[in-house]
Amino acid sequence: MSHAYEVVIGLEVHAQLRTRTKMFCGCSTAFGAPPNTQTCPVCQGMPGTLPVLNRRAVEFGIKTALAINCTVSADNRFARKHYYYPDMPKNYQISQYEEPLAEHGYLDIEVGGVARRIGIQRLHLEEDVGKLIHEGNLETAPSSQVDFNRAGVPLMEIVSMPDMRTSDEAAAYLKSLRAIVVYLDVCDGNMEEGSLRCDANISLRRPGATELGTKVEIKNMNSFRNVQHALEYEIKRQARALDTGERIVQETRLWDPDKAHTVSMRSKEFAHDYRYFPEPDLPPLDVAPAWIEAVRATLPELPAARRQRFMTGYALSAYDSEVATQSKGLADYFEAAAKDSPNPKTVANWVLNELLRVVPPDDEKAIAACPIKPAGLAGLITLIEDGTISGRIAKEVFEKMFQTGEDARTIVSREGLTQVADAGELGAVVDTVLAGHAKVVEDYKAGKKAALGFLVGQVMKATAGKASPAVVNSLLLEKLPKL
Ligand SMILES: [Zn+2]
Repeated sequence: MSHAYEVVIGLEVHAQLRTRTKMFCGCSTAFGAPPNTQTCPVCQGMPGTLPVLNRRAVEFGIKTALAINCTVSADNRFARKHYYYPDMPKNYQISQYEEPLAEHGYLDIEVGGVARRIGIQRLHLEEDVGKLIHEGNLETAPSSQVDFNRAGVPLMEIVSMPDMRTSDEAAAYLKSLRAIVVYLDVCDGNMEEGSLRCDANISLRRPGATELGTKVEIKNMNSFRNVQHALEYEIKRQARALDTGERIVQETRLWDPDKAHTVSMRSKEFAHDYRYFPEPDLPPLDVAPAWIEAVRATLPELPAARRQRFMTGYALSAYDSEVATQSKGLADYFEAAAKDSPNPKTVANWVLNELLRVVPPDDEKAIAACPIKPAGLAGLITLIEDGTISGRIAKEVFEKMFQTGEDARTIVSREGLTQVADAGELGAVVDTVLAGHAKVVEDYKAGKKAALGFLVGQVMKATAGKASPAVVNSLLLEKLPKL
């Protein structure tokens, strides 16, 4: 099957830029407004209107290009890409073709401990199109309506080289790219709302072959998981076809996440189908070196650098640093909680194990809206470290903090969760447990050291998790030899 073929994957990522206004007019880009309330003659494609380029969108493009090691072209130009679709009133999209904003970059990724450098062919700017809303199902809809609020919203398209060989590499590349645009604050990275969209080109070839096989483009993948699943499905489908001597058709296929398969959408267009030509209404864009340097000076710390700093500055493992920096929100959260902590490693454990059970690691909004703020988590950890509560109780307190937004100390004192470390009080419980588990005591004396852990667990259970495990442990070690 697939081991007989080499898989070749390239990704095209569209990122919606976080500018306040559209690419070529002053209309707002805010998400969720009533249909057609954020439009003007320019973005409705009225004859006689002229586009005016959004300077901020170009800056965001330059910023991203620098972060992914691209060379920004001093001379670049917009082009008309022609096609008919009812959500695009001009019947062409202003994009860039032969002279993109930037080219020849790369992104380093790591999959299963193996570092890979993925080439980036180009980064260009373009405008988004409107949105069709069908009454019911597309095939049977009695009518369709169009909302032009999104028409003209600035997009940046980043095209990779066909350098990825597995679906895992594709997912890692996309995650890494998403983290970068979010760190740069040029895109909110929200895949479900469509702020970040990914199409994949995938083909298979015999190992050692120098020519690429016939490629298929997959669209409609709005999560990392979808990208991975769609590619895995497509690898199997193409391998099966090649095995049986079937010809692969160059086409665009849609991923259907519910049915977990790809379906043919249309035969793939070729560049010449679009009849590109230079946009006559916009002058060539002259990006002076001073402008590039001014943008470079505003680059923040990027995920790769932050990952390194988390390892050296907070002594986190490579894996923990990787997870903690996968989104800016998560990394900021960790740093805010860890900054005053004597033990950042413990803070990382709580963030990576407990916090990530209740918020998705790449959902910046959910992390920002989390009822447990970084200072609140730091407060909870302090209560464990000063012995006020046990680690087990802390997990319950964490749940309650998440539900109510209250701080740890309030919950602990109201619910009487303070750890019992008093040897007298615990001694009685320990005696009861020992008396009730004579067989386990025998096992322990016969050399079965694991029996100790069981007995500690029984005492914890009897005290509803409030006993100090350290005190229980030492009490047991003191009492057992005397039995
Ligand atoms: Zn407009």
